[in-house]
Amino acid sequence: MAGAPDERGPGPAAGEPLQQQHVGCQVFPEQLAQGKPQQGFLTSFFTDNQKCHLMLLKTLETNPYVKLLLDAMKHSGCAVSKERHFSCEDCNGNVSGGFDASVSQIVLCQNNIRNQAHMNRVVTHELIHAFDHCRAHVDWFNNIRHLACSEVRAANLSGDCSLLNEIFRLHFGLKQHHQTCVRDRAILSILAVRNISREVAQKAVDEVFESCFNDHEPFGRIPHNQTYAKYAHRDFQNRHRYYSNI
Ligand SMILES: [Zn+2]
Repeated sequence: MAGAPDERGPGPAAGEPLQQQHVGCQVFPEQLAQGKPQQGFLTSFFTDNQKCHLMLLKTLETNPYVKLLLDAMKHSGCAVSKERHFSCEDCNGNVSGGFDASVSQIVLCQNNIRNQAHMNRVVTHELIHAFDHCRAHVDWFNNIRHLACSEVRAANLSGDCSLLNEIFRLHFGLKQHHQTCVRDRAILSILAVRNISREVAQKAVDEVFESCFNDHEPFGRIPHNQTYAKYAHRDFQNRHRYYSNI
């Protein structure tokens, strides 16, 4: 997410705090990930910075959410380059990533991103902010509603809320869980980068929620998992193939 200029230090201008994982959606995915062996040889032989670049490359080349967003950015005149628009850095605290609107760069917190699935989610989330920055005149620093809208979209469309959502739907039938998760995560993301009260953040999210939750661009639907994201990518490519043939 985008942060105020004075928040820029050695780390990102703003970011998605890892403590979000203890609230709502990412609790289960992270716990599941911890049970698996995690990239043994990578852990042993590479520095955090090298691992970050390797995971980023894999994300850019293989993740369907990210491939769709990269195509959409290019189509909107904001082609993304790995070298120019991403930076692997050590970050303070529990931040896992951020979008620095002042230089149009996504910061990836190499000391906090723990595995490929986490990298996929962080890159997707931040690319949604970058997409919003490209297509609209987003006033990240002065208009809390603009920030709230992009956070709602990033939480809704990045898959941040999807796995737990599936589990809840299966076991508890809580159809509203996805909306609740998106709202909670958007509020937490705002609080991570703005020195405002929870009430002010909640009010901003509630004011924009309906329209921003229903804005699914460039996916055209809520991509609940990688299969949905693949279909969305195919549809996006077909949409533009069709237009370019007219
Ligand atoms: Zn964000």
